[in-house]
Amino acid sequence: MIDFHCHSSFSDGELAPEALLQKAIDAKVTILALTDHDTTAGLLPLHQAAKGQAIKIIDGIELSVRWKKYDIHIIGLRINPESSILCDLIVRQNENRMIRAQQISMHLEACGIKDAYQKAAEIAGHERVSRPHFAQVLMNEGKVPTMQAAFKQFLGRGRKAYVPTAWASVEEVVAAIVGAGGQAVIAHPLKYALTQSKLHELIIAFRMAGGVGIEVVSGAATVLQANYLAGICNRFKLLASTGSDYHGDTYSYITLGRQPPLPVNCIPIWQQWIIE
Ligand code: AMP
Ligand code: MN
Ligand code: MN
Ligand code: MN
Repeated sequence: MIDFHCHSSFSDGELAPEALLQKAIDAKVTILALTDHDTTAGLLPLHQAAKGQAIKIIDGIELSVRWKKYDIHIIGLRINPESSILCDLIVRQNENRMIRAQQISMHLEACGIKDAYQKAAEIAGHERVSRPHFAQVLMNEGKVPTMQAAFKQFLGRGRKAYVPTAWASVEEVVAAIVGAGGQAVIAHPLKYALTQSKLHELIIAFRMAGGVGIEVVSGAATVLQANYLAGICNRFKLLASTGSDYHGDTYSYITLGRQPPLPVNCIPIWQQWIIE
C-alpha cells in the first residue's frame, strides 16, 4: 500500500509520528509520506522511528494557499525540509496561521467562549492551531455536537468565526516546493466546491507555476470521482497521487493506506522515482 497524505500531532493529526508509523506498518503501508499542514517538524521523529523498519518514508508537506476566495491545499512530495526557500515560507505561513487563530478566538469570545486560542493550543499541544482544534473546543464547550457542525456553524467559509487567512499564492507555494527539490500536487481537488471551469483555471495556474500532479484518489473518494480526476490528469498532462488524508481514528473516514486504488489510465507520480 502507498499513502502520500496523512497528518501527525505536529499539525491536526491525533497520533505522534511514532504511533502513526506503527499504524502504517500494521496497515501494510510500504511507502508513507507525512504531509502535515505548513510544517515539516514531524519528519525527523518519523525517520528516526522508521530506522530498520520495512517502510520507506517520503518527506512531504501540505501547504495552504489562498487562490481567489478559496483556501486550496498543495502537497509537496520529496521535499528537502532544510531548503531555505521552503523554511522561509513555512515561517510566514505559521505567522499568518497564528494571526488568524487570534482572530478566530476573538470571534468565538463574542459567541461566549473564553480563551479559545489557549484552549485550542492546549488541545493541539503546539501553537500552530488549526480549525479542527477550535472545533474540538466548540465540542468540549457543548456548543456543537460534532466536528462537522463546528465547521458548518462557526469555522467554515462565511460562517460566524471564519477568518480569511493570508496564505501564500499558488505561485509562491509551488516555487517553494520546486525550490526544495520536490514535486507539487493539488490535494483533494474535489473538496473545494469549485465549478468545473474554476477547477480548470486553478489547474492551469498551478501547471504554469510548475506543479506536476493532482490527488486522483483522496480519503474515501468514490470510483466515479477517481475516474473523473484521472480524466483531468490526461487532459492537463498531470501525474496522479494517492493518499488517505488520515488524521487519526476519531475523525478520518478511512485508515492509513486504505484508500481505493488509482485508476489504471493515469500515471502514478512515483513511477519514475528511485526510492532509497
Ligand atoms: P486550517 O488549516 O486551520 O484551515 O484547517 C483545515 C483543516 O480542517 C483541514 O485540513 C481538515 O482537517 C479540517 N476540515 C476542513 N473542513 C472540514 C469540515 N467541513 N469538517 C471537518 N473537518 C474539516
Ligand atoms: Mn487537516
Ligand atoms: Mn487538505
Ligand atoms: Mn490533509
